[in-house]
Amino acid sequence: MLKEDFKCPKCGKKNRIKIYDTLTNDDVPSIISKEIFTKECRYCHEHINVQYGLKVIGDNYIVIFTPSCSDDVVIDDKKDIMRVCDTFDDFKEKLMILYDGYHDIIIEFIKEFLLHQMDEEMKNGLEEIRYNGDNEDNLIFYLRGKETSIGCGKYFYEELLKKSKIKKIDRCVNIDSNTYHKYFRLR
Ligand SMILES: [Zn+2]
Repeated sequence: MLKEDFKCPKCGKKNRIKIYDTLTNDDVPSIISKEIFTKECRYCHEHINVQYGLKVIGDNYIVIFTPSCSDDVVIDDKKDIMRVCDTFDDFKEKLMILYDGYHDIIIEFIKEFLLHQMDEEMKNGLEEIRYNGDNEDNLIFYLRGKETSIGCGKYFYEELLKKSKIKKIDRCVNIDSNTYHKYFRLR
C-alpha cells in the first residue's frame, strides 16, 4: 500500500490517501464496484473518485491497470494470463471474465461471433459488447447503445475452449476485439 496526496476538488484541502499497488482476486468485487477508487475528503466529507494504476494478481492471471498511459509494463512474477488495460471499462470487463474463471481470448471470439449473428436492426445503435457476468446456463453480454443484454450458452464456451488453440504469450499484452486474433485459432 502506498500513500499519496490529493487535493479535494470541492474544498481544495490536501488529503493524504492510501492507494493500493497490488490487489488479489478477492478484491475484484470492490474494484468492479469502484469502491477502492472512492475516497472521502476528511475535511468536507465529499466522496471523490480517484483513479490510479494498480495490479491484480489471481491464481492464474495478472491484470495491470494503467489509466494514464499504455506504458510497457514490466512484471516479475509470471502467470498464464498477463494483461494490461488502460481504460476502466476494459479493466473491469477483464477482471469480471477472469474472476468468473473464463479465458478472455475466447470471450473476445464469442463477442465477435455474436456480432456476426446480429441482423442490421440489432446492430443499429450498438456501441459495444461487454461481458457482464454469468448465470447457471449462460454467459451474459451487455449491448451498450441498445441498453440490453443477451445470453450465450455456457456449452458453447466449453466447446470453443476444447476446439481452440491459444498461443502462449510470455508477456503482458492488451487483449481486445482488435488484438485477440493474433493469439487464437480454431483447430
Ligand atoms: Zn474536501
